[in-house]
Amino acid sequence: MKKIFTLWIMMGAAISAAGTEGTGVAVSSETAAALSAPALKPQTHCPVLTDETVSRRLYVDSGGKRIYVCCKSCRTEVRKDPAKYLAALHRMGEEAEDAPPAEAVTP
Ligand SMILES: [Zn+2]
Repeated sequence: MKKIFTLWIMMGAAISAAGTEGTGVAVSSETAAALSAPALKPQTHCPVLTDETVSRRLYVDSGGKRIYVCCKSCRTEVRKDPAKYLAALHRMGEEAEDAPPAEAVTP
């Protein structure tokens, strides 16, 4: 008898889980995200080799933005034309972070 009872509980759980899935809450939040302005995510990928994730130690500062890259040869590429790769990042849905201000001079 205990086995049957357990099975019955499990079936109930499965049904209620399916019910939650069908409420449409997930769908409406997705729609809202699609309707709002395209939000750019913080940069995680190299704008030159777009499959590569960036190294936090390799970057090019340009126009107040810090463009991270995955390797030194990509850094050379970005230095040649930073604006092109900033635009490439935007197309990838990513945004270069703000470059920190020039190092503060200690009094
Ligand atoms: Zn690279």
